[in-house]
Amino acid sequence: MIFGLRALIRLNLETAVRDGKLMQDLELESLCNGVGHSQRVLDHPTANDSGSRDCVKLPSPTAVFRLNVISLLLLIVCQGCKSSDKKEMSRGVEQKGEYIFRKDHENIFPLAEPQKREKKAYPWDKILKGNHPSITKEFFRCKGSSLHPNRIIEQPDGLVHWQDCGGVEKHSLPLREGKEFVYPILIDLLNYIQDKTCKKVVITCGHRCPQHNTYVDESYDNHSSKHTIGAEVSFYVLGLEEQPEVVVKHIQEYYKENSTYQALSDYKEYLNFHRYEKQDTNVSTLPWYNKEVFVKIFNKNEGRNFDHRHFYPFVSIQVRYDREKNEKVTYSWDKAHRNYHRW
Ligand SMILES: [Zn+2]
Repeated sequence: MIFGLRALIRLNLETAVRDGKLMQDLELESLCNGVGHSQRVLDHPTANDSGSRDCVKLPSPTAVFRLNVISLLLLIVCQGCKSSDKKEMSRGVEQKGEYIFRKDHENIFPLAEPQKREKKAYPWDKILKGNHPSITKEFFRCKGSSLHPNRIIEQPDGLVHWQDCGGVEKHSLPLREGKEFVYPILIDLLNYIQDKTCKKVVITCGHRCPQHNTYVDESYDNHSSKHTIGAEVSFYVLGLEEQPEVVVKHIQEYYKENSTYQALSDYKEYLNFHRYEKQDTNVSTLPWYNKEVFVKIFNKNEGRNFDHRHFYPFVSIQVRYDREKNEKVTYSWDKAHRNYHRW
């Protein structure tokens, strides 16, 4: 089609437009002598020798030049299309697959044997416990997030939507005397375990604000969880995931080795651990307890919620007794709901 168009234009130009020749009516330009060219059609061309409106003389080569330019542009466009078509066709023909053969251990460049290098310490690695960063209260911050999806629970009176909290960006840890506070015995025990095992302690749940606490487990018994007052921690130890009993042994060893307790008059109440034999717990393994802590092991099918999305057994430590204040540690609504900053 393009070729036909080009031939037609060329034919018209050759037959009708030549310097000093007559042409038939061209509706593209005014071709009169001395008249400026425009894209407008002239209804009344200037008189000429023949006196015909359909015939004019072309005294100058301007019109021929302009039409030749148009023709040349069309020719270039058509040639461009043809050459690109040829390239497309030739690509498939020129492609050729070959196997690459190489002998074993044949390398273009000799490769040096990889050498093990020690990781450079980050500033926060300077204080280590068992080759791992020392655990601080920062590790206990609430793991809620506004990015977590709403949980939809079906209850007798209809569907209930539970929304998670905003996490560390929206609230603090529990407070004591105006400062963020987690019971120090929890931090000390976890650092002791890291130190003795040289394995990393992974905290899956430290502090849980009331909103996140309800989000992960809306059951009535969980409302009074000591996670909400910074007095409970759940964790497992990398490398000892399947051996939580070993972790419990280390917890008991802590009280034997720590000289702080040996100076207490009721030292034996901390040293001796008992098994809790009542059936009112949510674990199948009998918990251990002394005066200060209550230790539970959750098996693989126990205690699963949004904070414990893993397949390992895990250990939970609750604080029973506050040595600093010499009082029992108990849950209260005020401690859980009115004792932390929100922003
Ligand atoms: Zn929270």
